[in-house]
Amino acid sequence: MNDYSKFDTTLVNDLKEPSSNSSINSDSSSKLSTLTPISKNISSFSDEDINDPNHLLSKMMQNIKLHEPAKNTHKRLVTSDEELTNKIAYHMKEILELIGEDPQREGLLDTPKRYAKAMLHYTKGYTDDLKQVINNALFESESDEDMIIVKNINFHSSCEHHLAPFFGTCSIGYIPNGKIIGLSKFARIVEVCSRRLQVQERLGRDILNIIMDALNPKFVVVTIEAEHMCMTARGVQKQGTKTITKVCESTFEDKQEKKSALNEFFVLYNSMK
Ligand SMILES: [Zn+2]
Repeated sequence: MNDYSKFDTTLVNDLKEPSSNSSINSDSSSKLSTLTPISKNISSFSDEDINDPNHLLSKMMQNIKLHEPAKNTHKRLVTSDEELTNKIAYHMKEILELIGEDPQREGLLDTPKRYAKAMLHYTKGYTDDLKQVINNALFESESDEDMIIVKNINFHSSCEHHLAPFFGTCSIGYIPNGKIIGLSKFARIVEVCSRRLQVQERLGRDILNIIMDALNPKFVVVTIEAEHMCMTARGVQKQGTKTITKVCESTFEDKQEKKSALNEFFVLYNSMK
């Protein structure tokens, strides 16, 4: 659990009440700083924080520690796109020779470079900044009872065992706990997590962790349905085989509540075309 998950929504609710004084007096300031652990990271509260809870949420966002997808990976060692492309292309040319091709024949002349550029696109998630993706997109929720579902977000990823594509759709459902996030951000989170070397099982968990970090929702479920080229184009070669994964977390203490939320998700999910 990180600091942000301890964020107490009463802080925002307190701030919604118009202050009798337009500027914050030292009493209210000290009251705020004792309310939540996260608030300790904010040295002062501005008028904007008081009047606009979303402004405070954005400010808090600066202090959140987000899970990085696929732990232990690092940022790209070479930062110039040109240098990266040339280095990958150099090795790709060798691979073409190794498989029995002539990299000098017309059709293959530019292939190493094309491949390098494509590879950098398939793995561009390594260069994305999750905080920037989420920043300024957190809003106060109007209801913490209702479920929000974003269904069938298309994604393309690369299997880390074979460097072969796997692709399909991801669906996310959550019940807020004081905060919601702009709907388009779900597609962005899926993009950052999938555009790197992955396994489907971890992809779902990465997406779920980031949503937990940013929103600390009462309930969240992430399902992924994907086709793996390493299954359909090699090995067992079973065309049309789909792999389905589901990860789910909740802050409900009652297991029954989690179960019925999951049930609600699948009923809604199946009823949506
Ligand atoms: Zn594979």
